[in-house]
Amino acid sequence: MIRVGQTASATDPGRKRRQNEDAFVLRPPLFAIADGMGGARAGEVASALAASAVNDAGAGSGGEQRVKELVQEANRRVHERASNDPSTSGMGTTMTVALVEPTGTITFGHVGDSRAYVLRSDKLEQLTDDHSLVAELVRRGELSERDAELHPQRSVITRALGTDPDVDVDAFTVSPHDGDVYLLCSDGLSDMVGADEIEQILRRNRSDLDGAARALVRAANRGGGDDNITAVLFEMVDGAAGEPDEKTREYAARVEPDDEDTLHPEDAVPPPPAPSDEPAESTMIVSGAELQAALASPQAPETPQAGLGRRLLALLVIAALIAVIVVLVWWGLAR
Ligand code: MG
Repeated sequence: MIRVGQTASATDPGRKRRQNEDAFVLRPPLFAIADGMGGARAGEVASALAASAVNDAGAGSGGEQRVKELVQEANRRVHERASNDPSTSGMGTTMTVALVEPTGTITFGHVGDSRAYVLRSDKLEQLTDDHSLVAELVRRGELSERDAELHPQRSVITRALGTDPDVDVDAFTVSPHDGDVYLLCSDGLSDMVGADEIEQILRRNRSDLDGAARALVRAANRGGGDDNITAVLFEMVDGAAGEPDEKTREYAARVEPDDEDTLHPEDAVPPPPAPSDEPAESTMIVSGAELQAALASPQAPETPQAGLGRRLLALLVIAALIAVIVVLVWWGLAR
């Protein structure tokens, strides 16, 4: 009988943000991750509401229909709050859920650009499709995977919980193999750490998933730590469930940020110099119409940096002209 073995999680605000707007559920056989977005602290509210909705509903069984209902319920709660509380208007969150059924199969539900991966036979495979602008362009063949990683609009997602009364949920089922390791993570990990390195870290720490989760967070911080980083891990093992797995925590659903044991001393860095409500590269949600418009003209808009560079260049040219005039006048007077 295949069952859940070790489980682990780690979350960290990263190096650029003061708040952690990621939330997760680690309640075997139910696992979920949510990456919130919205002004001020609304992103934190959105992800916490979505995680607690899944946590409250509990595991149960019922396959893809059940998982879709879990995500729909989370969507309803976030949308209701965003509609009734002006301070959270426009907030949203991603959500990726994994539910291990009594039969041992795993059902996933997914909205947004958080990801689910599996490490099987030492090979990492991405299970979810990102609901993001750049992923859409890659799927259409209009952007290479490489360019997508550096695209200025890579944080724009096309589907999220909370923005509409209903949400379109991707649902799929996986038949696990003995020894599989499943990873749910926010884009603060997958944007900072390449798939090859995630694979290496999981292979190196295969026997200690707590260590693996901490190593993933360290790697994302080494890569820049631009965003909140969260990883939830569980393995599937073949064997009787007689002996309880001491590493499997009975219950954990992070609602408040909890940095304990997730930041290695070598990664401790001073907080950013000044608080900022709107991080430089904050995630945005676009509607279907906006997406169509963006896809019709995928060029990135001119960034403020580019405008600044042009003004600096103009100033330099003017300064050079003045210098030439001064020299000519001085030369004329000196004659
Ligand atoms: Mg994020």
